[in-house]
Amino acid sequence: MTVKQNLEFIKCNLCNSNSYKFERKLNGFTLVKCKNCGLVYVNPRPKPTNIVESYKNEKETEKIMKWYKNQEANKKPDNLRRINIIKEEISFKCKKSLKLLDLGCGDLFFLRLAKKENFDVFGLEIRKWAKHIARRYNISLYTKPLEECNIKENSFDVIHSDSVFEHLTNPKGVLKECYKILRRGANYDKCSKL
Ligand SMILES: [Zn+2]
Repeated sequence: MTVKQNLEFIKCNLCNSNSYKFERKLNGFTLVKCKNCGLVYVNPRPKPTNIVESYKNEKETEKIMKWYKNQEANKKPDNLRRINIIKEEISFKCKKSLKLLDLGCGDLFFLRLAKKENFDVFGLEIRKWAKHIARRYNISLYTKPLEECNIKENSFDVIHSDSVFEHLTNPKGVLKECYKILRRGANYDKCSKL
């Protein structure tokens, strides 16, 4: 199967318009800009099934785990900074333990730190090896895409997500789901804005 056969043309995820213009090339992909709302997105993009399958590739597990382990020392200060901002933004006076979901939690490093800071932590990661880490650290883990997890409304006080939305095939749908499962008055914490 050729690379071209694994690609599909898509409409704008934000406004559903099919009208776009060429923006630029990046890492072999074509970025286009929606003429209606201005969203810049990859088009054509890899088919969703190929993306999900690539995350399940066990052959890559060892390499990825090593990469994550090497990143921990570098990631720690920034992860702690994020946790402190969340603590400052949401008063800890009203509840002892806030329920936090890390969407696309990778090796659960952020959640391990958050757990030490008394958050009630949950992860979501579709890469298979994450469940072994979750078991080791006794952290609850969702292993399907968010839309398939059937999480009840108003379940979480905080949703954290780092370097995930650019990989999603339906970011608007995932944001809607985040809105549904967040408690009213809770925060979606997009870290690039922190
Ligand atoms: Zn648009």
